[in-house]
Amino acid sequence: MASIVDLGVMGQTAVARNDVDPAATPARARRATGPIRALDANALASDRPESLSALMATHRSVDVSKMRAAAFLDVQDQIEKVKLAAIEAGSGWKSVDACPLCGSRSRHPELVKHGITLVGCDQCDLRYGAQIPAVLDDVYKNPAYASYSKEDNDEHYNYRRERFGRERVQILERHCGSLADKRLVDVGCGNGYFISVARESCPQTFGTEFSDRMRKFATAKTGLPIFSEGLDQLPETGFDIVTLFDVIEHIPDPNPFMAAIDRILNPGGYVLIYTPNFDSFGVRVMGARHSVVDPTEHVLLYTMPSLRFLAARFGYQIVYRETAGLDVQSIISMHDSTGTPRPEFLTSWTNEIQAMVNASSCGDYARILLRKPAI
Ligand SMILES: [Zn+2]
Repeated sequence: MASIVDLGVMGQTAVARNDVDPAATPARARRATGPIRALDANALASDRPESLSALMATHRSVDVSKMRAAAFLDVQDQIEKVKLAAIEAGSGWKSVDACPLCGSRSRHPELVKHGITLVGCDQCDLRYGAQIPAVLDDVYKNPAYASYSKEDNDEHYNYRRERFGRERVQILERHCGSLADKRLVDVGCGNGYFISVARESCPQTFGTEFSDRMRKFATAKTGLPIFSEGLDQLPETGFDIVTLFDVIEHIPDPNPFMAAIDRILNPGGYVLIYTPNFDSFGVRVMGARHSVVDPTEHVLLYTMPSLRFLAARFGYQIVYRETAGLDVQSIISMHDSTGTPRPEFLTSWTNEIQAMVNASSCGDYARILLRKPAI
């Protein structure tokens, strides 16, 4: 078997090697040299790293102290109680009887948090609240809730910009080519850290943000056009790239939302989505204690199969997908919150375990890049 693979794949590589500068050949082809050709031939079937060393060479750690309060889960619990009180004092909850993505009524209970049941769709794998806030502004327009947000300070902005903004631009450049002549809009741009980096390679960068406070902060920081309007009322359209970071889990009805994205996107354009991955190691361990399980805001929670369903529904091609999470850090936070000792194994090997979880598509954040058909 190995020799057949050798003849078919390695033969072409050998020819290419004579004609092409090795430094300019793709990494896959460069790996297919040396004495262990049969093993390398197997490696050609996948872009996955071949070893833990190779995996760690590409893993980038996250300094959670720059992003989360010391008693992160306790703080989140307090915020959720403020939001729950605001919903109760406002318009209350409404029932959701069918899957908002595929319409199926076949579902199973997944877990309960704050008395709200999160259910799993048996057809498309989406998780959704069996009840959601009847009026979302009860949460988002609540002044007490807004005061908890820590995203409009310089330290938070600068760390996110360097750690995540640059990485996201690199993902776009790797898969979409040069951004120099493309038009990009970041929907729900928050404090603007991503668009501030994107503009360096993509001069035609725009943002949208509902929150007046965040929009003012982002406008002051970037000087870029940031719209307060919904997608159907945007003053600009005809974008080549739409980015949605931590957005779609807040949207109760994903089909009209994606239809609106489709209308502002040019044929052949791209949609980059970052959203929590419910079917992850972190959620498996922590259940309702995980920070992504928040029925007041995260009215839907996706998995890779449900994201694939979303792409297929709109006829979009999946260009790239992976998971990259904070599963291990979150599990450590859970021990801090309950007052139990941090597991020494997790604190010693945080990056290695997280890198392996990510590489197994089990990280608690999903990233997926979709492409709209060219015509
Ligand atoms: Zn469904």
